[in-house]
Amino acid sequence: MSDTKTATAGQSLLPTYGRYPIALVKGEGSYLWDDQGKRYLDFMSGIAVTNLGHAPQKVKEALIKQLDELWHTSNLFRIPNQEEAAQLITENSSGDAVFFCNSGAEANEAAIKLARRYQQKIANNGRYEIITFEQSFHGRTLATLTATGQEKVKEGFAPLPEGFKYIPFNDIRAVEAAISDKTAAIMLELVQAEGGIIAADPQFVKDLKALCEAQGILLIIDEIQTGIGRTGKLFAHEHYGVEPDIFTLAKGLGSGFPVGATVAKEKLREAFGPGSHGSTFGGTPIATAAVKATLEQIVEEKLSERAAAAGEYLTAELRSKLADLPFVQGVRGLGLLVGIVCAGPVADIVTAAQERGLLVITAGPNVVRLLPNLLVTNEEMDTAVAILAELLAQA
Ligand code: PLP
Repeated sequence: MSDTKTATAGQSLLPTYGRYPIALVKGEGSYLWDDQGKRYLDFMSGIAVTNLGHAPQKVKEALIKQLDELWHTSNLFRIPNQEEAAQLITENSSGDAVFFCNSGAEANEAAIKLARRYQQKIANNGRYEIITFEQSFHGRTLATLTATGQEKVKEGFAPLPEGFKYIPFNDIRAVEAAISDKTAAIMLELVQAEGGIIAADPQFVKDLKALCEAQGILLIIDEIQTGIGRTGKLFAHEHYGVEPDIFTLAKGLGSGFPVGATVAKEKLREAFGPGSHGSTFGGTPIATAAVKATLEQIVEEKLSERAAAAGEYLTAELRSKLADLPFVQGVRGLGLLVGIVCAGPVADIVTAAQERGLLVITAGPNVVRLLPNLLVTNEEMDTAVAILAELLAQA
């Protein structure tokens, strides 16, 4: 190895992330510890991933059992865990058929492909256009960053795939104006999370669904951040009383084990035949052991309902303790996906909270995002609210 190849460990990574100078090395429940032994109360859950807390016992046991038995075969064979995990999803949702992959971006990529293929091979209408919304976030692959309604994620990646249109969120007239005879699908998050914790208006979602049905357009709901109990229902679309044609999952689906899923209605089943889409690692025995254990626990222990109650408590506490602070403009969100909307940038609040032993993140420049696990206690929420109230009072 030449001298120019000697580098510290971190320098051997491409600089894709603005990282905090904290190395977290252990996690249990709502807490994380860094390599200096400092303890943090985790109110970000690895960005909505560790919904059952860190190293949850039942998922850990399922993973250890599976590690002992079998890690990987191939999707050329039946994978019993995958079949059972898919069945758990379909039994507990409006969806009928599942494709497993490894991340949120891949789940959305598959959703886009499935929608186009349905229109082109089943409906035989040649439609390909996907309408998405300003401020949305759908991932970092070429198609999903193109679907994302934020310019910053697209810079320097031209040429981008064709067939995407962006319109203002919660504006049904804009949707009507954007639809053409090429519109294959409309894709949205019901709470734009990366975009600043902006919930879809219930009437807008109902109108959107009616418009899609009337015009043979598929409705794709990105539940990657809102799914798996996070918003107080297993899937956020249950709040809205609409059944999407396709919805996508990742993040909390494996409690931290990487796995994603694209969930489709029956009419889309035949749009993907053998060879039309796939993934070497999609839905391995290990990944789907994590999915099964995660969903079983959330359903059996009614953790979505718990998240709804905890979200109400957290939101009410934040509203009462932050009410008089001039820097705070409001508190918004759904369930345990909560944003504190501020009058200016909040990056310094996030780092100050870290110093005080609390992990939170931003959602856009001016919103502090709170994503505790679904088992968070009132005492833990009180601690987080007290720290944030103190920091926001000084801002
Ligand atoms: N969609 C939404 C709503 C997300 O919040 C994210 C990630 O933050 C993604 C898609 C992309 O997921 P992943 O980072 O697993 O590719």
